[in-house]
Amino acid sequence: MILALFLPVAALITAQLSRLYYYQQTKPVHAVINQQLQQVIKMVEYQVRLERDRLAVDLASAIAPADLENPGEIRSRLDRAVASRTFADLAVFYSPQTGPIMAFNPAAAQDRSEEQEQDSEVIAGSLKATYDAFLRILREGEESGRYKATEDVLVVLKRDRNQYNTVHYVAVKDAAKHTVGVLGFTLDRTYVREKLLPNAYRTIPAEEREKSLMDYVVVGVQSRETGDFLWSSEPFDWTQGDSQQRPRADARKLFDSALNFNFLLVKLKDKSIEQISREFWISNLVLVLGLAVVMFGGLLFTWRSVNREMELARLKSDFVSNVSHELKTPLALIRMFAETLELGRVRSAEKAQEYYTVMRRESERLTGLINNLLDFSRIEAGAKQYKFEPTSLPELVEQTLENYRYHLEEKGFKLEEKIDRELPEVAVDREAYSLCLLNLLDNAVKYSGDSRYVAVRLARENGSAKLEVEDRGIGIQRKDQEHIFEKFYRAGDPLVHNTKGSGLGLSLVQHVAQAHHGTVAVDSAPGQGSKFTLRVPIDDATRN
Ligand code: ADP
Repeated sequence: MILALFLPVAALITAQLSRLYYYQQTKPVHAVINQQLQQVIKMVEYQVRLERDRLAVDLASAIAPADLENPGEIRSRLDRAVASRTFADLAVFYSPQTGPIMAFNPAAAQDRSEEQEQDSEVIAGSLKATYDAFLRILREGEESGRYKATEDVLVVLKRDRNQYNTVHYVAVKDAAKHTVGVLGFTLDRTYVREKLLPNAYRTIPAEEREKSLMDYVVVGVQSRETGDFLWSSEPFDWTQGDSQQRPRADARKLFDSALNFNFLLVKLKDKSIEQISREFWISNLVLVLGLAVVMFGGLLFTWRSVNREMELARLKSDFVSNVSHELKTPLALIRMFAETLELGRVRSAEKAQEYYTVMRRESERLTGLINNLLDFSRIEAGAKQYKFEPTSLPELVEQTLENYRYHLEEKGFKLEEKIDRELPEVAVDREAYSLCLLNLLDNAVKYSGDSRYVAVRLARENGSAKLEVEDRGIGIQRKDQEHIFEKFYRAGDPLVHNTKGSGLGLSLVQHVAQAHHGTVAVDSAPGQGSKFTLRVPIDDATRN
């Protein structure tokens, strides 16, 4: 049975543990977190691109509608547009009809005008060379709805100092909303750092943030050329990585578009992936072990109650054989003496009288036994009804002893009686109370060993009527004392097993005591004898 119960649980727990071990080896947590970090990167990239597109469309609409017949108008609009926007470093409008028209941001120009001019030459050159392709890409983009007529297809501005910048392209419309030219511009680095990146980060929709690890990471941008950290979503020291080339980030990626030539960095704020993975592992281990403890606890409980049931089944079968044995003996005696009398084989009248007495006594024993059985079965069925009535306990006890005295004397017992006649009336069920006393006396006699002593005392104590039945018999071991009030229980002592009994007597006494809101207790030591004490409260208003 132990195997049947414990094996499946052990198997389950082993399986869980080996699974955990497998997890520990394959590090799925790492993979999941990495995936999440990539997700964060994608989100930031996308938002940056949206922000850039917004700027590009804003700049393009400032010079639209472009009238190619009037390049002067385009130039002045372009100048104004660039001058009034801090984000554009320089801008070049190009259409085959007008050729390149350039504008520089005066605020940014001061010491960089030469560079700016070089740059715009490069942009103008590339526009001229690939204008048709640009136009096609921008139109396709617009038609597909994928991007709002902006692109950053071509990128590189190669300068003397080997620097790079991203050029952003946007279609320019005429009055009829036809694309008639392309505008290329570069973004001001300060603007990117101070406005574009913070704006993009701030405008990530709340639901996207919640779905992702966004709130648990720091996002940063690092220039690929210089290694400078341009921006960080919150103050963070990125430099503590292995080197400038490998900053302190859990994930790193070159921007896809809009800000090419910059790295996007992501770092988990409070914990490293290692830590999270370890915590995941530990918390799972704790969970599995906790579960194991609970399961084994449950099993232990099941095992114990199954054991108890089995023990009860054994006690019941003992009970049946004990009771039938106990019924058989008086019946056999009665039958034997009745037959003797019937056949007229009794010579003297005294002998006949003696036989009658035996028959009466044995039938009394039978009645007592059957009363016990009936009471017990009523109690078990929950149908036992007690009839409480004001009773003089001294009288009831004396009367019961009187009926029993014969048994005692016959067996040579000395009865010590001490009854407090001053005891007030107590509401008890007379029959049940006297049955208790009889059961206790019966036990005292049955388990008397070699002693021939029984004491019955009735007294008042702390508002209770206290009835004591004491013997100097075989006594009861401590481990049995806990159980003797349970139904069918009989002590393992061989002395007990040689004595007839059903194991019901004391459980009845206890039931009666409880029904009277009283208690029954035992005080005993093996070889020293036993004292049973039945207490019933004298003034008990709760009893009906
Ligand atoms: P029974 O006497 O029919 O076995 P009881 O319920 O009356 O059943 O008693 C339960 C057990 O308690 C007995 O089997 C015996 O082991 C123990 N016991 C009861 N009374 C005494 C006593 N006076 N002295 C020693 N053992 C006792």
